[in-house]
Parts: sequence; C-alpha cells; structure tokens
Amino acid sequence: MTRTVTTRRRGFTTTAVHAGQQPDPLTGAVIPPVYQTSTFAQDGINVLRAGHEYSRGSNPTRNGFEEQLAALEHGDRAFAFASGIAAEDALLRAVLRPGEHVVLGADGYGGTNRLITRVLAPWGIGHTPVEITDLDAVRAAVRPGDTAVLWLETPSNPLLGIADVAAWAELAREAGALLVVDNTFASPYLQNPLLLGAHAVVHSTTKYIGGHSDVLGGAVVVGAAAWRGAPLAETVGFQQFAAGAVAGPQDSYLAARGLKTLSLRMERHQENAQRIAEWLLERPEVSRVLYPGLPEHPGHALAATQMRGSGGMVSFRLAGGEAAARAVAEGTRLYSLSVSLGGVESLICYPSEMTHASVRGTPLAVPTDLVRLSVGIEDVEDQLEDLERALTGAAS
Ligand SMILES: *Cc1c(COP(=O)(O)O)cnc(C)c1O
Repeated sequence: MTRTVTTRRRGFTTTAVHAGQQPDPLTGAVIPPVYQTSTFAQDGINVLRAGHEYSRGSNPTRNGFEEQLAALEHGDRAFAFASGIAAEDALLRAVLRPGEHVVLGADGYGGTNRLITRVLAPWGIGHTPVEITDLDAVRAAVRPGDTAVLWLETPSNPLLGIADVAAWAELAREAGALLVVDNTFASPYLQNPLLLGAHAVVHSTTKYIGGHSDVLGGAVVVGAAAWRGAPLAETVGFQQFAAGAVAGPQDSYLAARGLKTLSLRMERHQENAQRIAEWLLERPEVSRVLYPGLPEHPGHALAATQMRGSGGMVSFRLAGGEAAARAVAEGTRLYSLSVSLGGVESLICYPSEMTHASVRGTPLAVPTDLVRLSVGIEDVEDQLEDLERALTGAAS
C-alpha cells in the first residue's frame, strides 16, 4: 500500500523552534552547543569535516540561526551580521556601484539615513528621500539607469506609516532595481516582504528577534532573485565573508534563542499595544495616536492586507507640544527612557532628540511633540498606570 505524503508547510512557531536548531548529532544535546571557535581542524590540506574552515566564512551556530530566520522569512538564504547597520552596509555595498542611486523611504531609521548620506555618499552613492505612501513620488524619484535600490521601511519609524510593499516591488521591477524592505518593526511573525515581491529583507535582530535587549545583531534575507548576473545570495554571502562584519557565535545563539519565542512575545506586545493605543485616544493630553491597529489610521486597511497584526510600537503626539512630550518621556517609571525597541520590557523615547537626532533640522526631521513607545509584555494595567502618571504629571 502506498501512503500519500502531504507537504503541508509547518506552522510559524514550529518552524521557529526547529528550523536550523536540530539536536547535536554527536552528543544528542537538544540545544546544539555554541561553537565558540575561530577555526576548524582539517583532516588533510583543505579536507574539511563538515565544510567549516574559519568562522568568518561559516560557523555552525551562526549558520543554524541563519537557517532558522531564512525559513521564517520564506527566503532562500539569510546572513547574520554584528548589527542591523552592518547588515544594511553589507547589502548596499554588495549591490551598489559608485554613481548609482537609492530611492529612500523618508520616514525610517535615522541610522539608515546616516549610513547612506554620510558613509556611502562619499563613495559616490546618491539618494532621494520619498514619502513612503506617495507612489507617484517614488516613481518620479527613480533615475532610469542609475537607480539600483528602492529602500522601504514599513511600518515606518517613528511615524508608523504603512506603505504598499507589493506596489513598491512593482515600481522596483519597472526601474530594474532591487526592493529592500527593513522588516524590523513587523518582524517575520507579522509580515514577510519577500512574499509581497521584495528582493531582500533586512532586520535589526537587536529588536524583536533577539527580543530581550541583551544582544546586537542584524540580518539580510534574500529570495531567489539574481543581480548583475549572479544569485543575490551569492553576492551577499561573498560580501559577508570578504568584508567580515559577521555575527559572533554567542550573539547568534542569543538571537536564535529569542527567535524561538517570537510569536508568543509578539502576540502579547500587540495585544498590549492595541489596548494602550485605544486608551491614549481618549486622553485629553494626547492630540494624535499613531498605531496601524486603530481604524482611523490611514494605513489600517492596507496593513490588514499585508500584515498579520499591528505590532508593538505606538507613537503619539502631545497637545502641549514639545515641553509636554519631553515631560512625558522623562516622567515614566516602569517605562525606561531608552532608544531601541522590541524587548520584553517597555521603553519610551523622544525620537526628535534620541533615535532621530541625526535628521534634526533636515526635511526628514520628526515632530518635536512626538513620543514613541516600545510596548513591552508586562501586565497592561501596570503600563497604563505608569503612562497615566506621566501624562498627568506633564500636564500639571
Ligand atoms: C535599530 C534599527 C536598525 C539598526 O540596527 P542596529 O542593530 O542598531 O545596528 C535598523 N532599522 C531599524 C528599523 C531599527 O529599528
């Protein structure tokens, strides 16, 4: 009797726990050891036991994490780096040539803007910032023949705008360019840009993937696309090896460990964020709440088509302007006044002078009455109590 083998894809959490994380074949240790080694013994000249020669090129702990993340992002390959910015730098230098041009979503991580304008511009890379929801502006910003990359962050930072990834992918194809999506805010649990037509995804694994504010890391995930006649995976893999900004074994281990519980954490993050966003709407001190889970958010309907939830980041503006925003940011106790996001603990930040200080005074500057929350997994009643204290203190 023949049995029909079905090839149903495993669920997200099963994949998160098991992909690239098989027990150690030698000892059976359920958690594979952290391969804290720089080099690997060879059985003869260039006779490698398991394909590993030197940890800049490959390391089992890093490779296990890369396999886990590639599976969750529906990518062919993932490459882990020492930080999110190192991942972005490697990808951009791998695909761009001097004289080429990037169309850059304007509302985005300040450090990405700094990388492009202050590190890559002196090497001949041009860029044009565009409003991420204005597709005509994106099309108009393309310089035929020169534009090689469209760079998009959605949800965006810190204004939580939602851009149409499939439409940006179409514009990239028309331009003969690559679409890169920074998927840090959504995480692979809520959004998979490669399935929407993007060519590459970048992550700061420092954030939701690591999830515990105890490790820096970054990753590039690519699909099957080719670029200048070679698979993108080969191009990015070579850059990782040849330029060397790799994630170390301990950092890879922590990122992989965090990724296993991503789905559980994201569920709690966004349940709390939804509740807090709705609560903020009712507060007289607050003039505007920016959260894609609110029906009045301009990207609410679009988010529902390309995301599986609204995430854990909430921004809001204060009726009392800059002074009130500063007082709220400095007035919480449970919420820690910190840059970064995506850890289990709640963080508050004043983007204009913290995460986005590098774009202050430019057209990309963020409003000075804006506060950003990374809503943690703590009990929501404790978070609301803390926010209420900060809001009423700021108003008095
Ligand atoms: C933090 C962050 C980065 C940069 O990552 P690092 O790990 O800090 O280098 C890039 N993009 C977004 C959206 C981020 O939040």
